[in-house]
Amino acid sequence: MSSSGSNPTALEDIYRFLHMNPELSFQEHNTAALVEAELRELGFDVLTGIGTTGVVGVLRNGDGPTVLLRADMDALPVAEQTGLEYASNTLGNDQDGNEVPVMHACGHDMHVTCLIGAARHLSQDRGSWSGTLEILFQPAEELGAGARAMAEDSLFKRIPRPAVVLGQHVSPLPAGVVAIQPGLAFAAADGIRITFHGRGGHGSRPETTVDPIVMAAATVLRLQTVVSREIAATESLVLTIGSLHAGTKNNIIPDTAELLISMRSFDTDVRDRAITAIRRIAVGESRAAGAPQEAAVDVYESFPCVVNEPAAAERTRASLIEHFGPGAVITSGAVTGSEDIGVLADAAGAACSFWLLGGSDPALFASATTVEETIRIVNQQPSNHSPTYAPVIQPTLDNGVAALAAAARGWLARPTDA
Ligand SMILES: [Zn+2]
Ligand SMILES: [Zn+2]
Repeated sequence: MSSSGSNPTALEDIYRFLHMNPELSFQEHNTAALVEAELRELGFDVLTGIGTTGVVGVLRNGDGPTVLLRADMDALPVAEQTGLEYASNTLGNDQDGNEVPVMHACGHDMHVTCLIGAARHLSQDRGSWSGTLEILFQPAEELGAGARAMAEDSLFKRIPRPAVVLGQHVSPLPAGVVAIQPGLAFAAADGIRITFHGRGGHGSRPETTVDPIVMAAATVLRLQTVVSREIAATESLVLTIGSLHAGTKNNIIPDTAELLISMRSFDTDVRDRAITAIRRIAVGESRAAGAPQEAAVDVYESFPCVVNEPAAAERTRASLIEHFGPGAVITSGAVTGSEDIGVLADAAGAACSFWLLGGSDPALFASATTVEETIRIVNQQPSNHSPTYAPVIQPTLDNGVAALAAAARGWLARPTDA
């Protein structure tokens, strides 16, 4: 085995390469080829092309539990503004064929690199554990579709069913800190499209038209009342309208207008009530305007909540504490971010343990002496999906490799147990 395989500098080079060469959801072909080559060199049995670009390596190493470690590979249509020397200036084509900038704005390049590091570490140290290790790289987390695509491509008929699915997400917490929340950990997310159908015409003669822009504008404001007037103070919901598109020119009233909503919820009843309210408001607005056709409301993507099975989370937390120390392993509380890793765990009938990995420069927190001050500084950092978001490479990378390896060892057998 080459000594460069365990060289941390090489991992940093892989990270920079991935960061400079991001690929959109379901287009992760080069990333998949890179991880495939790496897993083959390490001696894994490798399956490729699962659910389009998914890759899984299986390493059978004696008796013991089967443990699956997962990373997501996709990037986002964001123009990078970090100013880093390894910033992306890649362009890609989105699902509609539009040319868009592409950036690893969610840090999935860090997830891939950390998982390569953990695969190297565990495969090169296979005398210290016993069991079956599965290393999985999934496409299209950002669409909430990649985990499902792999599961529906007979994933768990082709590899042994794991006892646990382990994974992590880099976050603006300080590098050196990891956060795991037992129970409900990440919100459910829904992508909802509202299309208003009006009747277009000349901007100078609005009386001959039904203006979908006015319907859309009224709906944007009215939707603010879903959270404030229809959801109890003791319940939670986030409803963000992230996209509003209509028209091409100032003097043309268009035929249609489209709103895209991101909704986050922790409870199916709250979710269902909110979707009913969105439908009622959009349809009501189109009727009030005398639209020739009712507004269409379409839930086009859905992520279920991530639930860290409590006993599994406790076991993973103990492994993380053993490596990082008790002060570095915190409880995050449930967060409004969403993830599709739970789909893999559900499909396998496995427990799920998913944690947040700190990625902000620890020097930024030097002045913080209390948890409140640390949180205040975390909240000042760019969040994932921002054009200025990027974790510091170190110590984030070393910590991410160590966290995955430690968590896996907490589930795998020791050779003497086997
Ligand atoms: Zn993301
Ligand atoms: Zn992400």
